[in-house]
This record gives sequence, structure tokens and C-alpha cells, in this order.
Amino acid sequence: MAFKRMEGFVGSIPQKFADNRIPKCPMCGTDNPHWSIDERMGKMFTLNPEDNAHKYLFKCEQCGCILRVPVTDVMGTGRSVLSWQGLAKKVHGKETKSIYVAIENVGNAQSNQEYKEKEMTLEEINALAQQLNK
Ligand SMILES: [Zn+2]
Repeated sequence: MAFKRMEGFVGSIPQKFADNRIPKCPMCGTDNPHWSIDERMGKMFTLNPEDNAHKYLFKCEQCGCILRVPVTDVMGTGRSVLSWQGLAKKVHGKETKSIYVAIENVGNAQSNQEYKEKEMTLEEINALAQQLNK
């Protein structure tokens, strides 16, 4: 799949998640990241929950950075301990109520290289974006 804006009913959940929950790009600070979306299916036959989780990728139109969020977090099921994903988080010492966002690609700003593959909560991502204050 290639990055694109998701319109219509099926795509509206991840699109709304990106547009509403991450209104400002944490890498370049733009107020108009105009997130485009790609999906990455989880690998089968792996016991690592990070590898087998189905992820959404959000790409900033301004700087090209890519954020990665588990589909279960976007849909909300990852926040319950009763779900497999929620349980996997619990086992890995993560807070099940939080949404975790990983920075897959830092985009144009190479000075952000230290953030590559860092995983943060949604709150931390938004705090980072606010610091940029553009
Ligand atoms: Zn950006």
C-alpha cells in the first residue's frame, strides 16, 4: 500500500485518529501535517507482539516523518487487558490505558535523528509537538 488520505467510512477511523489526536507534527511542528495513512500487516508466526501487531503508519505531508501506531490502539481494543494486545502490553510493562506511538522515520529534519524508533505515549508525542511551537 502507498500512503494516502483515507476517506469514506472504513478509513475514517484512522484518519480521524491522526487528524484529531495528533493535530501538530511532533517532528516539524506544523499545524497542518495533513496525515496520510498506510497500513502494515503483522507478521504471522511470531511470538513477539510488536512484530505480529497490525500497525497504521501516519505520514506528515510537510516533513515526511512517519509515525507508527498499533491498529488496536487506534481502535481502542488495545487498552483493555482482556484483549490479547492489551495483555501483551501488560506483559511488557506498558501502561494499557496509554496509546503508544513510535517514530519510524524522522522526516526531513535530520536533527531529529535521536527520535528514530523511539516509542512514546500519545501525550508525550503531543508535548513534543508543542515544544516546537511553530
Ligand atoms: Zn512534519
